[in-house]
Amino acid sequence: MTSRIGRVVAASAATAMATLGVTVANPAPASAAMTICYNTSQAGSFAGIAGQAASIWNNATTNLTLSANCGSNLRIYQITGGGSYAIRTSLGNGRVYIDTQQAQQYSPLRIMTHEIGHILGLPDNYNGNCSLLMSGGSAGTSCTNPYPSTTEANRVSNLFAGTRAAERAEGSGSAVFRDSWPAVAATVG
Ligand SMILES: [Zn+2]
Repeated sequence: MTSRIGRVVAASAATAMATLGVTVANPAPASAAMTICYNTSQAGSFAGIAGQAASIWNNATTNLTLSANCGSNLRIYQITGGGSYAIRTSLGNGRVYIDTQQAQQYSPLRIMTHEIGHILGLPDNYNGNCSLLMSGGSAGTSCTNPYPSTTEANRVSNLFAGTRAAERAEGSGSAVFRDSWPAVAATVG
């Protein structure tokens, strides 16, 4: 007895039509570095120094990149009198004011990197140690060090990595940082 096996080949018309017109969102990985766009349109003669300070921070840290001409996370202003200061609105965002008169006493680049340090989450540390950036004017006018210490730089990297919740909470809030650079007594005569 032979059974006839009918093989039905279903020729499946494979539709190789690509589905077009659908944009798949590509979420940024959690480890993506934050770009901090700084704006020097109001920085006057300090614009070049702002660029130097950005390079110093970029070389010293990970997880963030300071970049020019891409936006205004950080606005830098040149002012006259009243002292240099920083206003942080959130981690990586805010405004920095550099006092022209103060920059004739203290190193302008050290002032700039210090004030940007506040925007990047660092508090002041007035211990007079010139090897620290956040000691600010407490290290005296002879201190021209514009570089964050390894500890300071690593703290910034960790803040932007978001790996230290407590520090991130501390560093990401809004704050105003004034009086980092005490006025030097005027020379008599
Ligand atoms: Zn300060």
